[in-house]
Parts: sequence; C-alpha cells; structure tokens
Amino acid sequence: MSVSFSPRQVAILGATGSIGTSALDVIARHPARMRASVLAAGSNVEALVALCRTHRPDHAAIADPALYERLRSGLADAGLSTQPHAGPEALDALAASDSCDTVVAAIVGAAGLSSTLAAARAGKRLLLANKESLVLAGELLTREAAASGAEIIPIDSEHNAIFQCLRSRDASVEGAGVRRIILTASGGPFRGRTRAELEAVTPAQAVAHPKWSMGPKISVDSATLMNKGLEVIEAHHLFNIAGSRIDVLVHPQSLVHSLVEFIDGSTLAQLGLPDMRTTLAVGLGWPQRIESGVSGLDLLSQGRLDFEAPDLEAFPCLRLAWQAMDAGGSAPAILNAANEVAVSAFLQGRTGFLSIPALVEHTLSTLPGEAVDTLDALLAIDAHARQITESAITRLPHA
Ligand code: NAD
Ligand code: MG
Repeated sequence: MSVSFSPRQVAILGATGSIGTSALDVIARHPARMRASVLAAGSNVEALVALCRTHRPDHAAIADPALYERLRSGLADAGLSTQPHAGPEALDALAASDSCDTVVAAIVGAAGLSSTLAAARAGKRLLLANKESLVLAGELLTREAAASGAEIIPIDSEHNAIFQCLRSRDASVEGAGVRRIILTASGGPFRGRTRAELEAVTPAQAVAHPKWSMGPKISVDSATLMNKGLEVIEAHHLFNIAGSRIDVLVHPQSLVHSLVEFIDGSTLAQLGLPDMRTTLAVGLGWPQRIESGVSGLDLLSQGRLDFEAPDLEAFPCLRLAWQAMDAGGSAPAILNAANEVAVSAFLQGRTGFLSIPALVEHTLSTLPGEAVDTLDALLAIDAHARQITESAITRLPHA
C-alpha cells in the first residue's frame, strides 16, 4: 500500500518577530515535509516582503490596513505570486482557511487573541506562543479547541518541556499521576537585585536578557517576572491543573526548561540549550522528532545547574499574577491588559520600571472582579483596564 504524503502547510502569524523567524528557520530545514503557506505581521511591511522573497508563501497579510498598497506593490515588484491581504480580519480568515493546516500563533499581546481563536475554532494544529491569549481567554480558547479537535502544542519553552514530559496536555487525566508542575525561570537580567536597586533601571537594561533573545515586550516581562506569572496562568489552562499544584523555581542557566513531579516520587525534566527552534521543532514534527538546527547539551562544559526561590519582594508581578489566577473571572484579563499598557509606557520612557507592578496593582484594585464567559465581555474588560492604566500613567509624578 502506498501512503500519500502531503507537506504540512504552516501559517505564521507574527512572522517577522523572534518566534516567527525561528519557526521559518526550522521549516526551511524540511522542504519535503512542510512549507510556510501564509505569512502575517503587524506593520513591518518591508520585513514581511523580504520573508516572502525567501519563503514564497501563497498568502501574505499585514495587520495595519493602511499598509495594503505597500504590501501589494512590494510583492509585485519582487515578481511573486503571493496574494496580499491587510487588516486584522484578513489574518483571522487566513488562520481559519484551507491555506493552512498548522498555525504558529506568534503575535505579541492581546492583539493575537482573535486569530489564535480563529485557528482553534477551525481545528488547526495550533503552535501557541501567544501566551497573552491564554491569560486573557484561557477557558474560552481551550474549550473551543476541544470542541473543534484543534491540537494545541505549547510554544513556550517551559510548557513545551512539560508537554514533552507528559506526552500530552492533560495533567489531570486518570492515571497521569501528576503531583505538581515546576516551572523554571531564568530570573531575568535583574536577578539578585533588591527593590531599591531596580528604581532607576532603563529599558535598554531590561531588554538585555542574559539567556534568551526575544522580542521587547516578553523581555521586559522576564525582567519584572510578570512573564513567569503569565506562564503560571498559561500552565493552569494548558494542563488543566490547579494553581496550587504549580511551583516556580529560579534556574539562572536556563538549561532545565521545566519539571513534572509524579505521585511515585519520579520527577521528569526536559533540558536543552535556550533556543526556541527546539520548541518549534517539537510542535512542527510531533509526535516525531525532527532536526531543529540546535546542538545538543554538553553538560560537562556547562558545569553546574543552580536553583533558588523567586524573590517576590523585589518582583511583585509574580505575586500579582498568582493572585489574579486565584481570583479568576476577569482578574487575569485585567492583569494582562494593565501589564501590556505599563510595559509599553516603560519601553517608551514614560514610566519607571517599578511603575509596572504599581500600575498593574492599581488597575486590579480599581476594577471589580466579575465572572466572564464570552469573548465580547473579555474584550470589554480588556479595553476598560487599558483606559484605567493609561489614565493612571498620565497622573504619575514623572510622566
Ligand atoms: P516580537 O516582538 O519579536 O514579534 C511580534 C510579532 O507580532 C511581529 O511579527 C509583529 O509584526 C507581530 N505583531 C505585533 N502587533 C501585531 C498586531 N497588532 N497584529 C498582527 N501582528 C502583530 O515578539 P516575540 O518575542 O516573537 O513573541 C511573540 C509571542 O511569543 C509573545 O506572546 C511572547 O510572549 C511569546 N513567546 C516568545 C518567546 C521568545 O523566545 N521570543 C518565548 C516564549 C513565548
Ligand atoms: Mg517561557
């Protein structure tokens, strides 16, 4: 019997970013088994056209509708048959279309929710890097994916590590025997500093991550430890596990990507160099292992693996995220929106580093928590939380 084999058709939403570029690197290593069929980005139209020249997708989309003409003429000038599209709705439609069977959700922030949801509803294999969509709408997103049969594979090194240890996404399934999940954290560029020493840190210092090369927003989140807070909420939804069974351990070498402890006393961990191409190769090839371009781990030359407890005094964002998860309802959406606004203001030099947790705490305490179930309700809360955070920024003494 001959088996017909058609290559995986991959849509990359956020193609010009750090995760998008790593995904394209892995895909290009396997021309017989996969190709990039759709590339989408926010506003960097030149970078998108350059990627189209190399990867020759069927469709290219830019989220900013004003850039349609530049995308169209850029593709035409390059002599490409790639079809141009613009606007957020075009991204949603492409994510759900027959042009792809796999979607890499690598847009940063809540801006990625709509297309991530569209891919989940359409039953795609969903390589989910856009953790903010899980924080904002985790119940909705996992419910829709379960209903359509969409297979979510986490593209966050920690969650991908747990996925590899469990070989599934369900830590609560009968017989899985999971006692707890332990997320590792690098500690970011300011590990070991006191709160007072964080007062005057600059955006340039905050985005200079010691171990990972990532986009600016997640780099600041790593510096405040909000990234680990978002990841605790992400793990709760992805693995269907209570927050009380998720722990965080700081591991500065970033080689142990996370661990799962079982009821029989076993602990499984996944190790590797800090390079997201390994994570993406797992998502693209699963359940098979494929080459990623990342070399193996030489533990002898690495020398040692250290672990320490996170400092919640100096980095209150992790505590705030834990509280928001325990409160449930609208609280994680409020936390996420406030954080996005605060991080953006910090990157623009409009607020200080310590204002990030202060603004998140302010917005969480200003908006009452409520039960939410629909996308419209979540988006309204997201918008309201953004307004409250913005107006608090304009009232800050040094703003
Ligand atoms: P990045 O800033 O490097 O790239 C972001 C991408 O999103 C770009 O392609 C940009 O054009 C696109 N984009 C921005 N706004 C958009 C909009 N409104 N509509 C459509 N597209 C838009 O970010 P990144 O580091 O690649 O991170 C992407 C996501 O992956 C984030 O949610 C992040 O938390 C997650 N993640 C990243 C890493 C990493 O190593 N970089 C690791 C784990 C998780
Ligand atoms: Mg991570």
